[in-house]
Amino acid sequence: MFEKVLIANRGEIALRIHRACKEMGIATVAVHSTADADAMHVRLADESVCIGPPAVRDSYLNVPAILSAATVTNAEAIHPGYGLLSENASFAEIVTEHGFKFIGPRAKHIAMMGDKVVAKRVIAEAGVPVVPGSDGPVDDMDAAIRAADEVGYPVLVKASAGGGGRGMKVARDERELRHAIPAARTEALAAFGNGEVYLERYLDRPRHIEVQILADEHGNVVHLFERDCSLQRNHQKILEEAPALVLDDAARHRIGEICCEAVRKIGYASAGTVEFLYEDGEFFFIEMNTRIQVEHPVTEAICGLDIVRETIRIADGDKLSVRQEDLAINGHAIECRINAENPETFAPSPGRITEFHTPGGLGVRVDSALYSGYVVPPYYDSLVAKLIVHGANREECIMRLRRSLEEMVVGGIETTIPLHQRLIAEPDFATGSYDIHWLERLVAGTK
Ligand code: ADP
Repeated sequence: MFEKVLIANRGEIALRIHRACKEMGIATVAVHSTADADAMHVRLADESVCIGPPAVRDSYLNVPAILSAATVTNAEAIHPGYGLLSENASFAEIVTEHGFKFIGPRAKHIAMMGDKVVAKRVIAEAGVPVVPGSDGPVDDMDAAIRAADEVGYPVLVKASAGGGGRGMKVARDERELRHAIPAARTEALAAFGNGEVYLERYLDRPRHIEVQILADEHGNVVHLFERDCSLQRNHQKILEEAPALVLDDAARHRIGEICCEAVRKIGYASAGTVEFLYEDGEFFFIEMNTRIQVEHPVTEAICGLDIVRETIRIADGDKLSVRQEDLAINGHAIECRINAENPETFAPSPGRITEFHTPGGLGVRVDSALYSGYVVPPYYDSLVAKLIVHGANREECIMRLRRSLEEMVVGGIETTIPLHQRLIAEPDFATGSYDIHWLERLVAGTK
């Protein structure tokens, strides 16, 4: 096993990776920007290296600085976490070329899934149903109009290099499409340096259901069932749960098997998530994420497995520690993403934490890098804590979530805790009657 791992990330996920390493007897190296000198992941890691000023392009995306940090500390492997460099194929390649192990899939699989047009084609060829749409990217307006006529309105214009919900525009008719195409291209170019776009049928009331996969370098693949991540705002997940209420065991095993088969066919190794929209009993693939996800703890809760530990073991060449027949769903789990934001306007709310109290008790987990006196910097993602609760069933889980949200105190900044309290009190949430647009209707008061 590796003796030392460098964690190329910050915040709660850096801490999460640090914890998995320590439990495996692995020493950790934190890297950080000047703004994160006092961050929890830096305090707890065995060693730390400052890699640049606050802006991510100068620090957490600064590949030469990260490689230098790995070299001077003698780290053997680099864990990228999520976001930042985690889905950057050239980073994975450079890390490997420099003699370090990249804790994630091979560069070619990151590149394959990072281009969503390619991903859809490869996945469709591997036997997975995909959202109907244009046959590849649409190069000009005439091609876009022809493709939209074939797909049928409304259509969604999406960026081939997309991520984080950016570069996505709905068009309900040709007139809207004429605006949506250049708008999506401009947004995609600014966000990803690649303005290529494609079209998909816009589904009106789907749920977002994703399957967690683990695959090793020896051809073993398992699925850890699914998560329902339909509660979103601006195409960004807010609350996730596992298992999905709308699937019965037969549907669950069928889609899990389809995903395992596809992953086996392409020779993928590491953790991965196959994302679907689910409407009227049908699954439609949208993308595959080639990294650990923010919402992985809900799966850990129902499966009793440490997914980060598995990613480290897989990178070290070990076989998966579980077989499909060993895996079963135990109870129900829900995760609330707690952001440093105003719960109504969603304006960012960085600043000093004056008070921090986390809920506890049976079935309660808080993944957060906050502490009392810590200053949430204004430069980074607004996610500051994840509250994950587990119960014997969904009802128990919701009751536990309600009391945990009441117990939790984050003083000094505004957070989305009140939004979570409001949404879990809704009758539609209790009955599980929601789709990917439900939360936006609730927030807009049009529900
Ligand atoms: P990103 O990589 O930017 O996160 P995804 O393809 O994963 O983009 O989509 C993010 C979210 O956008 C989905 O969870 C869903 O809410 C919405 N979405 C994506 N494709 C469609 C579609 N064809 N119809 C309706 N909503 C969609």
